[in-house]
Amino acid sequence: MDNISLISDMILKSKKLVVFTGAGISTESGVSDFRSPGGIWDRFDPSELNFQSFMASEAGREKYWQFSKALWPEIANAKPNPGHYAIAELHRLGRLDCVITQNIDDLHQKSGIPEEKVIELHGTLKWVICLECGQRYPREQIQLRLESGVKAPRCDACGGITKPATIAFGQAMPERETREAEARAAACDLFLVAGSSLVVYPAAQMPLIAKSNGAKLVIINLTPTPHDHYADVVIQGKTGPAMSQIAEQVKARLA
Ligand code: ZN
Repeated sequence: MDNISLISDMILKSKKLVVFTGAGISTESGVSDFRSPGGIWDRFDPSELNFQSFMASEAGREKYWQFSKALWPEIANAKPNPGHYAIAELHRLGRLDCVITQNIDDLHQKSGIPEEKVIELHGTLKWVICLECGQRYPREQIQLRLESGVKAPRCDACGGITKPATIAFGQAMPERETREAEARAAACDLFLVAGSSLVVYPAAQMPLIAKSNGAKLVIINLTPTPHDHYADVVIQGKTGPAMSQIAEQVKARLA
């Protein structure tokens, strides 16, 4: 049996499928990955955009917002690609427990997966949050302020520092999401990685949690990952074409 059929078979037999996604699935929608050349990351230095610099000074916050202002149109205009739609199809077919994602671009939700089934480990760009009082603002609203010349927006309610609701370099992982992701990984019987190189924590940890609790592990990624040797099936390639074929086969065999 070829790998696509093997994975389809595993999905059909699975009672709890968790899909884990990273930058690899979003680059196929044209979203820039800071690891790859080209795009917005050529104009900004990731080492200047960490949480410590953001908290340390107004200049640090202005720099961060300058970057975020330039990034937002790319994210706002990005459309889900066949990889996202294939995962949404698995959801429609009743085969998906949840998606755990490292991405901040809302593309799983845009593809039709309900909000409550998407666990965002690195937060979301869709919201801006006040670090003092927790007030949330839609990103579009803050973007208008940035465009009107505000350099580092403050909270209307309390005057506190606001920040995109994403996890910056050096910022603590969100507790609730991390715990939830670990619990889902531990409880699933099939863990499918789509487009993550599994190098940063806690992403690197999740497949191991799943595997050590008895789940089968599938990894689909363009490049090798440190966990390939733990996996039951590995496909080295793009996420979109592989996931589309898998979803089509699952659908056909359910019909
Ligand atoms: Zn506030």
